[in-house]
Amino acid sequence: MAQLIDGKALSKKIQLQIKQEVARLKFKPGLAVVLVGEDPASQVYVNSKEKACQAVGFYSQKIVLDKNITQEKLLTVIKKLNKDPKIHGILVQLPLPKHLNEKIVIDNINPEKDVDVFHPYNVGELLLMKYLPKLDELLAPCTPKGIMRMIQEYKIDVAGKKVVVIGRSNLVGKPIALMLLASNATVEICHSRTHDLEKTCAQADIIIAAIGQANFVNKSMVKKGTVVIDVGINRTKEGLVGDVNFKEVENIASYITPVPGGVGPMTIASLLENTLLLAKKHQ
Ligand code: NDP
Repeated sequence: MAQLIDGKALSKKIQLQIKQEVARLKFKPGLAVVLVGEDPASQVYVNSKEKACQAVGFYSQKIVLDKNITQEKLLTVIKKLNKDPKIHGILVQLPLPKHLNEKIVIDNINPEKDVDVFHPYNVGELLLMKYLPKLDELLAPCTPKGIMRMIQEYKIDVAGKKVVVIGRSNLVGKPIALMLLASNATVEICHSRTHDLEKTCAQADIIIAAIGQANFVNKSMVKKGTVVIDVGINRTKEGLVGDVNFKEVENIASYITPVPGGVGPMTIASLLENTLLLAKKHQ
């Protein structure tokens, strides 16, 4: 039976450490979360981020804008936050309504306040990274950073290992591949056009599943002793499930993340870590 990687417990531990560090600081790290429109899922995410900020003692500002806001007005809001000394991290909740250009919006966030690490400057820094620094010192996208934190916490050695990342999004697949590469893993990135995906996965020492399809990774894709990290969040009739068929795989894997309670809570912990990092750099 695989050992469970408890993201919820680890996230709580990190949040407690952050709270203690914030109590010692002479200033409050500040995060601004910008939400455009009323998408229910986005509202849930934004509220949980705001709650987490408040719980560790950050200054937090939630800005909710009308779904019909013009691009120009949204950029004005962002430019104001870029200049606001109380704000060290700016997060624009994606996806934005279709009439807004996400790339232009992200490009206008000051890279020194780019807490989600989507700005091309910070993405470029990640690409140029040769070796993974200490995670406390690394500005990296929240979900992949959380995954690396779990891997390190459970002392899973990735050096020289064959890692298969399923999914090539800018949010998860690409950045986690870069971070694993910088940790000396041999990384293969797969996607919807990959041939022989099953065979490729079955050779992996570590599988990172970031696909967005419920129970996609099954027992025929996992060899004995593989570490399985499930990033997926899929809403089904049975409730929230990941991209991995947990029941089939838990007896084969050496380590496995549950859904919920695995990668999800680590994403929030990384957001807080990134805000603290940016705030300390700013000071
Ligand atoms: P995207 O939809 O942006 O990317 C999905 C990727 O999976 C794409 O690269 C796609 O390939 C690939 N893919 C889709 N179908 C297949 C298939 N049949 N075979 C192989 N590859 C396939 O998703 P995200 O990366 O944003 O998110 C992935 C999942 O992780 C989602 O469930 C999301 O909800 C979850 N998530 C969870 C987070 C957390 O905090 N736990 C944070 C972020 C995301 P192609 O590029 O060819 O289309």
